[in-house]
Amino acid sequence: MVNLRNIPAVDEILLQPDVAELIEAYNRDFITRKIRQAVEIVRDELRNQQKELSREVLLQVIVMKLTMLVQEAVRGTLIKVINGTGVVLHTNLGRAPLGNKALGYINEIASGYNNLEIDLERGERGSRYYHVEQILTELTGAEAALVVNNNAAAVLLGLNTLANNQEVIVSRGQLVEIGGAFRIPEVMKQSGARLVEVGTTNRTYIQDFAEAVTTDTALLFTAHTSNYKIVGFSEEVKLKELTELGKKLDLPVMHDLGSGVLLSLEPWGLNEEPTVSECVEEGVDIVTFSGDKLLGGPQAGIIVGKEKYIAAMKKNQLTRALRVDRLTIAALEGTLLEYSTGNPIKTIPVLHMLTMDRDELRSRSQKLCKLLQAHIATREIIDKIAVAELDDMVGGGAYPICRIPGFGVEISFKKGHMEKTANQLRLAQPALLTRKHEDKMLISARTLVAGDIETIVGLFRKIMI
Ligand SMILES: *Cc1c(COP(=O)(O)O)cnc(C)c1O
Repeated sequence: MVNLRNIPAVDEILLQPDVAELIEAYNRDFITRKIRQAVEIVRDELRNQQKELSREVLLQVIVMKLTMLVQEAVRGTLIKVINGTGVVLHTNLGRAPLGNKALGYINEIASGYNNLEIDLERGERGSRYYHVEQILTELTGAEAALVVNNNAAAVLLGLNTLANNQEVIVSRGQLVEIGGAFRIPEVMKQSGARLVEVGTTNRTYIQDFAEAVTTDTALLFTAHTSNYKIVGFSEEVKLKELTELGKKLDLPVMHDLGSGVLLSLEPWGLNEEPTVSECVEEGVDIVTFSGDKLLGGPQAGIIVGKEKYIAAMKKNQLTRALRVDRLTIAALEGTLLEYSTGNPIKTIPVLHMLTMDRDELRSRSQKLCKLLQAHIATREIIDKIAVAELDDMVGGGAYPICRIPGFGVEISFKKGHMEKTANQLRLAQPALLTRKHEDKMLISARTLVAGDIETIVGLFRKIMI
């Protein structure tokens, strides 16, 4: 049995100078709780290791442990991650990093009061939905617009408003799970609409839609197959065919576009995804898309389309439950203004990353490679650090089969060391996520933001030394 009587009392620990500093910086109750926790941990360690330590040493050990616990507790669980994966829209990593204008707006709007729901000209109550509507209609050519919490909410609201207790016709090839558990059949059920599936998984024709229409049909629905592609022997109904059928039968057509590109990325080799205004031009009555995918803004669900349908959605009680707050509106307006008045390819991080030229990617990779080579003494762990060509991805349910040629740093480890290092980097602060290819670690240059290269070098130094 170890002697645990040497463990100092909480009151005594509270009197230590280092602890007094912590109490000054935070608060006494919090530090006292953390002291108890530190004492518990040290007590367990003593029991497990059957060690005897002097009172002095124990005091030091507990204060060290306490400092660690306090540092952990004050930084919260949501921390910064460096994205070395080369996947630009990584849902697990928070999707689109925001541009400066969006960040500036959030700061300005959220640090004080604002005109979220007041019409300053008339001095009357206004609508929060007014703020981004005009710019969205200008940018997309649609009659009206509405913004809700996310695209899943946008689809839910559209279906519930237009087809509650009625039938919605959908191609079987689109009844899919998209991203993190967005299942169209489930959303459909929640919305109160009845799903009518037509066609087969790989082939659906416009006649399939036409034949399925009954007096109960309220809506023709189509979704962009964002995160997969049926290749080979397949047939999809074209948007234009569907909108023509809708017009003929006087039925609205709703298109869940998913990613929502506002400008064509064709000059950069990304040309499969239709832009929002192309969908509007094709005559789609309601288009829904995310704010934080290719648009490059905050999480939001954007609905654009015909005035009468959007007006009905605004009146739906569900809208109240799905509404966006001032932070979202501020960030979205800041992002959209870059499209209408600025240079989005340069200033919206997602677009800048996707369109970055090879020379810039190569020179970023060379910089990271040289710094890593210069700063880590690695003989026992690392064989080689080199610049390498690699394939990046758009991610976030866009361009599923498109690989974008990129550059990065490739690190070859001695046997058994790669997994361990990748884990340490993942657990570091900030965390670094890397990619693995066979027995090499890859860090893509495309998805790094300002300052990341220096931080990565610092992380490796800390781990390797
Ligand atoms: C991503 C996506 C969704 C879900 O959008 P969230 O904004 O994540 O709710 C729905 N439909 C499609 C086609 C998508 O690509």
